[in-house]
Amino acid sequence: MQKELLENDVFLMAATQFDRAADFLELSQSVRERCKWPKRLISVTVPIQRDDGETEVFFGYRVQHHLSRGPVKGGLRYHPGVTLGEVAALAMWMNWKCALMGLPFGGGKGGVACDPRVLSIGEKENITRRYTSEMMPFIGPEVDVMAPDMGTDAQTMAWMLDVYSTNAGHLVPGIVTGKPVALQGSEGRTQATGHGVAFLITRAFDKLGINECEATAIIQGFGNVGSYAARTLSRYGVKVTGISDVTGALWNDRGIDVEKLLTHVERVGGVVGFDGAESIDPDEMLIQPCDALVPAALERVITQTNAGKIQCKVLAEAANGPTSPQADTIIEERSDIFLIPDILCNAGGVTVSYFEWVQNLQRYQWTEQEVLTKLETKLETAFEKVTHFAKREKSSHRVAALALGIKEVAIAKTARGLYP
Ligand code: NAD
Repeated sequence: MQKELLENDVFLMAATQFDRAADFLELSQSVRERCKWPKRLISVTVPIQRDDGETEVFFGYRVQHHLSRGPVKGGLRYHPGVTLGEVAALAMWMNWKCALMGLPFGGGKGGVACDPRVLSIGEKENITRRYTSEMMPFIGPEVDVMAPDMGTDAQTMAWMLDVYSTNAGHLVPGIVTGKPVALQGSEGRTQATGHGVAFLITRAFDKLGINECEATAIIQGFGNVGSYAARTLSRYGVKVTGISDVTGALWNDRGIDVEKLLTHVERVGGVVGFDGAESIDPDEMLIQPCDALVPAALERVITQTNAGKIQCKVLAEAANGPTSPQADTIIEERSDIFLIPDILCNAGGVTVSYFEWVQNLQRYQWTEQEVLTKLETKLETAFEKVTHFAKREKSSHRVAALALGIKEVAIAKTARGLYP
């Protein structure tokens, strides 16, 4: 297993980051090994009948990094590039994220290697139902609670809930988070990650003395996270000058009208062709001057090649793992970029997922305002902890965030000891 995981570039990246933070913490070899490797790796085949009548077998995964601090929590991703190694890396990051945020969860991640853009709604539903059914022995509100990620949404979670609840014989709302409010989803969950990203950017602006009404932002990815980050930043008065998605990239010096762009994307399926901005090369967009650069799509888009060229004051890692370790070193050496590392920057999603799970267990419903206020309090606390630790220990923000998360997990594992 170790060999297979370490052959995957994304897992190697997560493991390298872990090793750096573990060195920093001077973790003993035994605790280090227990923290680093995932507890369970589950691979399944997901056969479905396509709309043309043919049967196609998809490959699905779920990795539960550890269960020492509570149930596993993490998203389910539908993307052609999903592999076991990538899912394991994402599960590991979720681990440190939950611990950093003080949430009683371990990290998990799931995925099916498929292209949701070419699947019909019915095919997506069949993949989701069969994947859930294959996962039945390994999930539950006290064991593993999934949520949306790239390529999945509230509807996907509703199908998962239906399969689980039908088998249980009663509604089990705590089996997933990020579900529709009508099924006891939480108010504020859909916008939580993007809202959190925008909120943390303003915290960083405050530290740097940047007035948000005079600031600009560039956002890569205009899905759930990118679009809500763009909306919230615009509402705060930040001018969003560049936005891209898988179809292409847009630029407008005067600021892109985010609401109009959302309507355009709803109509045509991508940002390309929007008449309120010029088109720009997506790679060029990333290196334009701005106050905040927000990668909100894929892993490893800030690389050795462009890390020296990006011209932002704040790099807000809305996506998971958007900066390669080589790029990380370059950014650390530059010291002119305020990094909000991914496990902090996009923690709004899992935090409101936690709120949703708590509401489900209590059969209670909070208002959107209550949810967002509680979210901002938790994010503010974590942001201050990370920046304070980095200052005191003279470390990067990435090492600070990872070290704070890993330390919590190490303490829990040490306290529980080894069984038998
Ligand atoms: P999504 O599927 O809703 O959106 C993804 C966006 O990325 C789409 O606009 C897509 O067109 C764009 N994209 C894909 N390939 C691209 C490319 N090559 N160049 C530019 N854009 C590209 O996904 P999401 O939920 O917004 O997730 C985005 C990232 O945020 C992922 O890394 C995910 O793991 C992370 N994340 C999501 C959540 C959440 O609550 N949804 C929480 C934490 C972290």
